[in-house]
Amino acid sequence: GGFSGGRGGRRSNRGSDMKISINLSFHEAVFGVEKKIKIKRSEECGSCGGTGAEKGSTSKTCDQCGGSGQVYVRQQTPFGTVQQVHTCDKCHGEGKIIDKPCHTCHGSGLESKERTISIKIPAGVYDGSILPLRGQGNAGPNHGSTGDLLVYISVREDPLFKRSDDDVYYELPITYAQAAMGDSIVVPTIDSKIKLKIPEGTQNGKVFRLKGKGIPNVNGRGRGDQFITIKVEVPRKLNREQRHALNEYAKLAGEDAHPEGKRFWLRVEAEEKESHPKKDA
Ligand SMILES: [Zn+2]
Ligand SMILES: [Zn+2]
Repeated sequence: GGFSGGRGGRRSNRGSDMKISINLSFHEAVFGVEKKIKIKRSEECGSCGGTGAEKGSTSKTCDQCGGSGQVYVRQQTPFGTVQQVHTCDKCHGEGKIIDKPCHTCHGSGLESKERTISIKIPAGVYDGSILPLRGQGNAGPNHGSTGDLLVYISVREDPLFKRSDDDVYYELPITYAQAAMGDSIVVPTIDSKIKLKIPEGTQNGKVFRLKGKGIPNVNGRGRGDQFITIKVEVPRKLNREQRHALNEYAKLAGEDAHPEGKRFWLRVEAEEKESHPKKDA
């Protein structure tokens, strides 16, 4: 009997993957962009065509391992015959022996090349995603397959638009008068401007949803929505005239205009009656 050990053996011929990082603006990520990037990668040697042998000389198959790069060693042990696999020491696992190594690659069959490659970033790409470009990485030795180029995407924050999945968010400050009387405001979306109708009596925190005005899905599944949260900005400073006008308004504003406030104080009153019942009642 006997068994084969898995140690040693021929190395994988696949070239290694390369990693690069690309930093995009919010708008580049949303609408897609083409980027030209300089990379240095290992390619098949142009002088020897990847054989590793100098022109005119040859590389011949290793006679010790027959080109497999591995040799089997049989050993007698007290338990029987054991067969083990070792890396061929004559060709160092390459499977071939070069008479005269190529002057460019010194026998590796590979050389380092600087390339400018064009990368198409799809619209809607997410921050932190990885774009794999198959076969754009390092070449493998002995005509092995080429590794991938992995593009790590990071996206800068936008001062206005916040993103969550394919939806877009921002807060829209409006005045107390706009909230009370209603208004029509031209507001930005990621690719246009639209008229947003603020109805009379709009409350602080109200959210408007603009369907389909969000970010295009990177896998082509439509577009997200845009959400606009209303923030009623109370005047931070009043001059004499404004203060006077607001005072006049306050005298006129009955509790019917403020049903929430009315309900709150009615509840307070009810609580007090319950916890302090009149002795004679
Ligand atoms: Zn060999
Ligand atoms: Zn070469």
